[in-house]
Amino acid sequence: MKIMFPKFDKIGMPLLGLAAATLFLLEAKRQLRKRTRPKPERLLENSSVAAAALPALRLLLVPGMYAAARQANQKRFGLLRWLGLPEWARYTAGFLLLDYTNYLWHVLLHKSDTLWRFHNVHHIDLDLDLSTAWRFHIGENIASVPYRGAAIALLGVPAPLVLFYEVIFEGCTAFHHSNMRLPYTVERQLCKVMVTPRMHGIHHSIVARETNSNFSVIFSWWDRLHQSLRLNVPQDEITIGVPAYRDPKEQSPKHLFLMPFKRQRPWQLPDGTVPERETWHSPALLLP
Ligand SMILES: [Zn+2]
Repeated sequence: MKIMFPKFDKIGMPLLGLAAATLFLLEAKRQLRKRTRPKPERLLENSSVAAAALPALRLLLVPGMYAAARQANQKRFGLLRWLGLPEWARYTAGFLLLDYTNYLWHVLLHKSDTLWRFHNVHHIDLDLDLSTAWRFHIGENIASVPYRGAAIALLGVPAPLVLFYEVIFEGCTAFHHSNMRLPYTVERQLCKVMVTPRMHGIHHSIVARETNSNFSVIFSWWDRLHQSLRLNVPQDEITIGVPAYRDPKEQSPKHLFLMPFKRQRPWQLPDGTVPERETWHSPALLLP
């Protein structure tokens, strides 16, 4: 299996690094939501989760997805091949459909009890910022290999597109997890096309209805299509996290690593109440 990807490693990764550094500075300068915990502590916790997950992403997920695309292409297998589309159309449709399969995967992470155990590690972060963008349990990254590989093969996505999409996917993940305050008028337009920090902030709320919305990764269209879009929550009213996991002591790297294998708590606060919110606005209207 091919492991080295010169363009991905020498162009894609440095560009991602540059984007991340820019977002890191911007979110410090123009903060969107108030922090609840000291930044250095969270940086340490989130980097230790990422320290296991990122090698799995680069050494298993990326080569696995690339190999799936190569295999399918060699056998002339996959929807986009069978349609006999010209190359530009295969690339365009492939990019869009890859993003749609990742919307579906994200829904699955929330609906499947087993997958949620792993995805929960990402969601119990008590603040949301750039460092959350790579805070994924290594088990979630490993579980995504067969799903994303199969989706790529079934679609017949060109192999170079898999790498290009992954760079954009990671860049957009960094962007919408960041705690950067964009001008409201700009974000209101931007979220019609792509997932933005305010939109994804709502996905990380402790209110179940809000977590179970905004699953898209790059294009926000998939949430509009499936009516899972929810923009009508002001950012200063959001409590980030999962209600049953409010104790900062449970954010230690060891606890986060073992969490998927422990008994899962119901969606309620430690005092037994279930967080709710009265909403009056249309879900499609972004609030500041
Ligand atoms: Zn999620």
